[in-house]
Formats: sequence, C-alpha cells, structure tokens
Amino acid sequence: MTVYNNRYTVIRIMNCSRKIKFGFCLNIFIEVSIISIATIIDGSTITSTNPQTITFLNHQLVCIDNSGYIDRILSPNDTDYEAVKATAKRKQQLLSLNKDEYLLPGFIDLHIHAPQWPNAGLALDRSLNEWLNTYTFPLEAKYQEIDFAKSVYNNLVQELVNNGTTTALYFGTIHNQANLELARACNRHQQRGFIGQVTMDNREQTPGYYRDRSAQKAITKAETFIHQLMDFNKTALLHQTPVITPRFVPSCTPESLKGLGQLARQYDLPIQSHCSESDWENNYALENYHQRDAMVLDQFGLLTNKTIMAHGTLLNQSDLDLFKKAGVAIATVRFQMPISATRSYPLAKSLSNILKSGWVPIFRAAIRPVFIAILTRPLFHPECFMTVSTHHYHLRDAELR
Ligand SMILES: [Zn+2]
Repeated sequence: MTVYNNRYTVIRIMNCSRKIKFGFCLNIFIEVSIISIATIIDGSTITSTNPQTITFLNHQLVCIDNSGYIDRILSPNDTDYEAVKATAKRKQQLLSLNKDEYLLPGFIDLHIHAPQWPNAGLALDRSLNEWLNTYTFPLEAKYQEIDFAKSVYNNLVQELVNNGTTTALYFGTIHNQANLELARACNRHQQRGFIGQVTMDNREQTPGYYRDRSAQKAITKAETFIHQLMDFNKTALLHQTPVITPRFVPSCTPESLKGLGQLARQYDLPIQSHCSESDWENNYALENYHQRDAMVLDQFGLLTNKTIMAHGTLLNQSDLDLFKKAGVAIATVRFQMPISATRSYPLAKSLSNILKSGWVPIFRAAIRPVFIAILTRPLFHPECFMTVSTHHYHLRDAELR
C-alpha cells in the first residue's frame, strides 16, 4: 500500500467543507476551472460514504482549488469528465497518480502527547505512575523553554503531516506559551490541531517542578489559554481548538476538576483525559473518591458528547453505560485495546498513536497491530472493525467540529 503524501491530496481531502457550485454548462465549468482550480488529480480514491461503507473508485478527477480545497470530484460517468481532464492536461494542471497510488482521507489521531515526542519508543520498563515520574514529567517540564518547545513541536507536526495525520488531538503541557508554539506548528504545517492545556495541581501526585501552583491558578491559566488561542485563530490559516485537559483524576484536585468542567460548559469546548488506564489509576479514584474513575469525571461535568477518553483499558460495563449515555468516545491505543469494551461498546471506534507506547508517528503503522488483534479474536464485536476502517478519521472528525 502506498499513501500518496502530496499536501493537496492528503491534507486537504478532509477539509472539503467548502463547495463551489459550478457552472451551468460545460464551457462555464472549464472557464471557471482555469481561474479557480490549481490542480486536478487523476487517480483512485478511497473514502467512507457513511459509517458502514468504504468506497473505492477508479479514475476519479479530484479538483483542488487555489485555496487547497476540494470543490468537485468527477467520475468517468460525468458528461464533462473527458473535457475537464483534457483541459487540465493542456493547462498543465493534471496530476496523474500511478497505478499503485491512491487518495484517502487524512488520518485523525485522537491521542498524542506532543511533548513526549523526544521519548518516542523509549523505555517501556515501568508501570504507569513510575513511568510518569521517571520519564514523562522531567521531559514535560523542559517545555517552559520556548525554543525547546518550538523545535520539538515543529518537528513533530511536520512528521505527522508527512505521514498523513491531518488532524490531531494533543495533550500539551502545563505551559501556555509552549502550547501556543504547538498551535503555531500546526498552523505552519497546515494541520488542524485540538490542543490541550494540561492541568495537574494535586501536590500528592505531581512533582514540585512540574505542577500548577493551585487549583485557582490552574483554572485561570486554562482560561487564559482559551483566550490566547482564540486570538491566535483570528489570523491563523487553520483554526486551532483549545481542549479542556485534566491530565487524569490522580493529578488533579476536586477543585480543579470542578473548574475545568465549568470552563468546558462555559466555552462549549472539547474535553480529553485518561480514564481507567491502569490498576493504579483505577484504584486511585476508588480509594480517594469511593467512586470509579468515570463517575468522578462525570461528577465534575467532564463527560459530555465532546469528550474523548484515552485508553479505558479497565472500563467496566457501568462505565461504558455512563460513557454511552453522555456520548463519550474512547481513544484506544495499540496494545492497549479495551477488549471487553469494544465487544460491547460500539462507540469505541477510535484509534490513537500515542507516542509513549508507539515508536513511530505513522498512523498506518498503528493500525496494523490493531487489525491483526481483531482478526485473531473471533469474539470481537463486529463494530470493532470500524476501529481500523473509517471512524477514527472520519466520524470523529465530524463530531469534533
Ligand atoms: Zn495519554
């Protein structure tokens, strides 16, 4: 399989929301195409026409306008197909794909810890809480240095885009300025970013060198970031979206979780966090709140139809019922698929390429082991097939808008 990585094709194909109504006769269309069409790609396309169907079509003409948007797709049955193709060829606007190349929608990665890019593929030798303190927090603390943040994020986003990830839901760090650098990198490389200003203020579960100083300061900072990103978007090429991001229940105090829930409601924003990822995380909620992880998040207004919860490895049926009722989606990760969940919870259809458990920023590489896992588990719910087919980059895209 070869993914055609031309910017116009992979990046823009998901951004085809703007359609131009073309002419009323062939001649008008051809004249318009000369003015507004930058490139016409001739080749095979794969896309999902609805949540259950993937369509493969040969010999399509994908017309890309000067702004990089798809404004028309022609098939050989269209009456003006040959004329448009001939005109494009004459105007040197035609880009013909090879037989082993095809166009497909850009991938949407639902869970990336952007600051962990320098750690990608390193050290799978610790349990979650030890891993965080040994590798994650020391690295994330470095992002208070803007030049470091700028360098890493620029490299990461470029690498992701080059490998077909055109939209990403990011965990940043606790640093507003570094998170703005991530937004700038997304804009620079024409990736649509959903960027989480991470909140972690619990003194008992976070190191002094990497912690929000108080719940009030954490909430104020989170709200400031929302406004900073709104201002950034006024001149940005692509809209970047702030995401309410409590790291997870253990890293936050009840006060910060409550404040974040209020911010999400006030600004109608997406929410992301981790839920029941490990025994330690799962047990923390039980011991400190006498509730399950999911119930704690729900109590603070953090489970909505704009929420994406990562991992969910240990979710039980009551958690899944709660998620389903609230409209929460699960971002699962290779090697961490919540098997019981995906058998009974059809919303668990998304896939992420988390950098801590992955080693390359290539979404296709993340899909393969999941696909193998599905094929080798005959009891898997049929819906789970969707995990690696269309939903992760198509349905969620629509829902996140
Ligand atoms: Zn994570």
